[in-house]
Amino acid sequence: MILILTPNVDVKGAEYKRLMGVLSALPNVHSRVHNVHGAQQTLTEIYLIGDTSSLSLDDMRALPCVERVVRVSQSYRVLGRHKDDQRATGFEYNGVHFGQDNLNVFAGLCAVDTPEHVEQMMRALRENGQVCTRMGAYKPRTNPYSFQGHGKECLPYVFTLAGKYGIKVIAMEITHEDHVDEIRKALQKTGNKTGVMLQIGTRNSQNFELLKSVGRQNEFPVLLKRGFGITLEESLNAAEYLASEGNPKIVFCLRGMKSNMGDPHRNFVDFSHVPVVKRLTRMPVCVDPSHSVGTRESAPDGLLDVMHVTAQGVIAGANMVLVDFHPAPAEALVDGPQALLLKELPKFLEDIRIVREAYDKRVALARQE
Ligand code: PEP
Ligand code: MN
Repeated sequence: MILILTPNVDVKGAEYKRLMGVLSALPNVHSRVHNVHGAQQTLTEIYLIGDTSSLSLDDMRALPCVERVVRVSQSYRVLGRHKDDQRATGFEYNGVHFGQDNLNVFAGLCAVDTPEHVEQMMRALRENGQVCTRMGAYKPRTNPYSFQGHGKECLPYVFTLAGKYGIKVIAMEITHEDHVDEIRKALQKTGNKTGVMLQIGTRNSQNFELLKSVGRQNEFPVLLKRGFGITLEESLNAAEYLASEGNPKIVFCLRGMKSNMGDPHRNFVDFSHVPVVKRLTRMPVCVDPSHSVGTRESAPDGLLDVMHVTAQGVIAGANMVLVDFHPAPAEALVDGPQALLLKELPKFLEDIRIVREAYDKRVALARQE
């Protein structure tokens, strides 16, 4: 059960203390407090965990400071959509809105290699009106002898250049909780000119200790990739691990499933799950066409498979696109063969705009009386 308190509740006040006193006396129920900091107000939600079936909604609603009460179903207690649940979807981060109602594009380098390539990428993004990007510093690789990413060494120039080119959010994978501190320190040292969305990759989607530690911090939002060989339910539970520890600022990313049924694509594209995730949870949904398709092959119509697949995600209502670009793919140290070229960026963005417009029209049509 979730108690949603009146906005900006005074947690030092007598009323709040009275509420907490009542809750702590409930048998076999313990409470966990979540604060959701929005642009205008702070919302406090109290999750009642344990034997809540005998509690009445009316009794709970009558408690001091309580504005609304939601009885949650068993699954996805924090992130799920529950009956009579009008809580907002999404969040703001560093001036960018992430919700189930909008779309952000994160085009950038799979792996940071040189400052020159980072700068060329970011300049192209600014020229095309983009304020988000992807930049991989810590790379989880199948082969221990492959390039593992520049790690913390590259963070100062990545963050400084992001500031120079007006980048507000960088999606950056972390593979260990220490990387969060390295990122935080590097951001501070470079004057907090940009923001970071911590990416948890498909290989770590069931690294529960990593999920818990990233969930315990509230500073950075999280982009959680779906596990490539587990069910959707298992991956949504991974997201719930993050949220249950206190960080509900999560974007869920579909990136294809590992199966040779997807051949000749790198993974079997699973973007039909965009509306499913939006129905089951309040998370914005991202699609990653690059790691799904894994090549620059194109169809006879002249469109790259990466663009076709992006369109399939966007027409289904995706809220974010994470896509690999590179100024010189032949020189890329990771995933060059699937990278789009900087000269393809304007067309890629226009293609997305066309498809998003079609999606908006489909929604309007569906809502017509
Ligand atoms: C990536 O986005 O760079 C990546 C490694 O993706 P995934 O975890 O989906 O394989
Ligand atoms: Mn990659």
